[in-house]
Amino acid sequence: DSADGRSEVDVLIVGAGPAGLMMANWMSRCGIRSRIVDKRGTKIFNGQADGLQCRTLEIFDSFDFGHRAWIESNHMLEICLWNPDPKTGVIHRSDRIPDTIPNISRFQQVVLHQGRIERFFLDSISENSKRTLKDVPGWEGGIQVEHGVIPTLLEFDDKQAEDNDAYPISVKLRHLTEEESRPKQSATSLNGSGLQDGLFRSNLAQDDTEEMLEKSKALEAKAGKEETVHAKYLLGADGAHSWVRNQLGFKLQGESTDYIWGVLDIVPITDFPDIRMRCAIHSESSGSVMVIPRENKLVRLYIQLTTTENVEGGKKADRSKINPESILASAQRIMSPYKITYRYCDWWTAYQIGQRVGNNFSLKERIFLAGDAVHTHSPKAGQGMNVSMQDAFNLGWKVASVVKGTSTRSILKTYQSERRKIAQDLIDFDHRFSRLFSGRPAKDVLDEEGISMDEFKSAFQKGNLFASGVAVDYGASVIVAKAGDSTEQGDGTEVLGEEKLRVISEQELAKEIKVGMRMPSFKVLNQADARPWHFQELLKSNGTWRVVVFAGNIKSASQKTRLDALGEKLSSPTSFLNRFTPPQKRYDSVIELLAVHSAPRQDVTIFDFPAVFHPWDDTDGWDYWKIFVDDVSYHEGYGDAYKNYGVERETGCAVILRPDQYVAWVGEVDDYESMDKFFSGFMVEQARKGRAMNGGKEGAQLK
Ligand code: FAD
Repeated sequence: DSADGRSEVDVLIVGAGPAGLMMANWMSRCGIRSRIVDKRGTKIFNGQADGLQCRTLEIFDSFDFGHRAWIESNHMLEICLWNPDPKTGVIHRSDRIPDTIPNISRFQQVVLHQGRIERFFLDSISENSKRTLKDVPGWEGGIQVEHGVIPTLLEFDDKQAEDNDAYPISVKLRHLTEEESRPKQSATSLNGSGLQDGLFRSNLAQDDTEEMLEKSKALEAKAGKEETVHAKYLLGADGAHSWVRNQLGFKLQGESTDYIWGVLDIVPITDFPDIRMRCAIHSESSGSVMVIPRENKLVRLYIQLTTTENVEGGKKADRSKINPESILASAQRIMSPYKITYRYCDWWTAYQIGQRVGNNFSLKERIFLAGDAVHTHSPKAGQGMNVSMQDAFNLGWKVASVVKGTSTRSILKTYQSERRKIAQDLIDFDHRFSRLFSGRPAKDVLDEEGISMDEFKSAFQKGNLFASGVAVDYGASVIVAKAGDSTEQGDGTEVLGEEKLRVISEQELAKEIKVGMRMPSFKVLNQADARPWHFQELLKSNGTWRVVVFAGNIKSASQKTRLDALGEKLSSPTSFLNRFTPPQKRYDSVIELLAVHSAPRQDVTIFDFPAVFHPWDDTDGWDYWKIFVDDVSYHEGYGDAYKNYGVERETGCAVILRPDQYVAWVGEVDDYESMDKFFSGFMVEQARKGRAMNGGKEGAQLK
């Protein structure tokens, strides 16, 4: 920072909810000078979002904190559907279905409240940024969320938008006093009862009072201060009422629904037998309840209270009449003849669902919006927080690689083309799901007004795939080499690279590694030490691309010849590995080369591979963590990876994975030219100082 209060950052993030924290987390991983500010003086301690999709857990795992969520959360295994008995009208359990579709992920859906998830992010951001930014003047302390800071002015110089080195964004930030930044209870949660509404410390969750006290002291010292920040990039992750979005004049399109919902987080006292299962309960005529069993003995009830049709003039319902008692009374009617009450209530709220999506997710690929700032919908399917985090997960590595100068700005257009479609799918899904959930069950097949319970079950099952997050399939672009129409931006511009630079995948070589989707995971063994790894565990989110060579049966002479030819090209000083990696950086910092072969493990050593697959480091010697084998493990069975990935065992294939684990390209094992062409479409050649990717090193080192 300069003395006059001006400061420069690569990335400024407004809003420290799930979306903003995910962005800051990427920046901390990639060592990008960033600041993240939030108008709130404290973080969330209970309530709010809670469901974590299996894809979100995969993402957390790639950032090394998946285990924390997995251990602390409540795991949801089964969904029970309760409906009126056709004869008596009394609710009964009519079906059970698995909560997560078996075998779609190595994780299953879990629930844990937003405050804990934010905690994991804060720890990860702090730890990683202190490591990656320790040598960057002014950033030695890493990245910390700055609470009680609010932007008051945003200026953008669009003439500088395409200049990589420019800081076209200026934001005035004001530091609030402790009092100003404290959230007003009644305004945010309709709370008139003095009950916690999600912003105070919960006595069930272990948390961090010390940190809060420190924060508020720091806040007082800076209160009232104003500063101007000049940024290369800005992310508005400031929620549904996004200030950033409003400054840009961007709108959300869609509508408010008629459904009013109450949410109650309680430790229930009940004789309802499935209270520890996720349940969808449709009563004959009193409405529906969704039961979500939670961590710490809690259960969340989502209850439809009324529709605005019941309210005079179709206007908004009178929210002052909604309180924990009235929500509970509705639940009691719906769940009758079972009894339900509570002694402890952790949090509650009520809301009217709006289903809206933003037209523009970015201004000139300099200012971006993510999360609730660009899509709002009902929380019942547990999607909001997940999709919001995944927006920023999609964006973070792209911005980081452009700031670092390894990718051109062309890849930034794919943020909107990829994520806007997901947001629209989400709204469509939510629309169908809400209607089915909120409707009255049909009495019989002739009851057209009512909701068919068979239709509900089938929608639930189909919805489960969508809701898992693993079905995301990104369209063709400069970073997704698949055939098909060009993907359009919301504004009609296309996001494909120049035709001559584009390559198209040979999808049939790896039938289950779908271009545009995330890399599925099966177990493989490390060639050097026989340890089994879930393949996804090798794909850490650290900003690197990966070329995965399914080398096939390298004991076959013809296959070995192909592999050697590939190795030679890769180790050439002019290979894409060498051209796109800055000379002072580690060999796997931009593109990491991995191999999975199918010959028997015990017949092979790493030295059967070209040296580029086990790179040399002058300090550490050979790298033993790049070559893997599809073989039987001693203790964890057989992953049968080639079969499960749909890859031919003898001849294999090659796959390019993006830094976010999405599949970018599939082709022949030795199709070096396509790989080179693919990377050349968006990567920036680095000034070369005679870097050679291990070319010819091995002989010299071992003499
Ligand atoms: P937010 O979480 O809203 O975060 C925005 C952040 O920006 C906040 O910290 C805010 O203080 C800050 N901010 C706002 N304006 C400014 C400004 N001008 N300057 C500085 N900072 C600012 N999702 C689920 O997945 N499952 C659920 O069960 C679920 N239940 C929900 C229940 C309720 C009552 C609500 C309201 C939401 C629920 N959601 C649920 C949705 C989920 O909470 C959101 O989708 C998710 O939090 C969105 O993340 P975000 O980071 O985009 O925005």
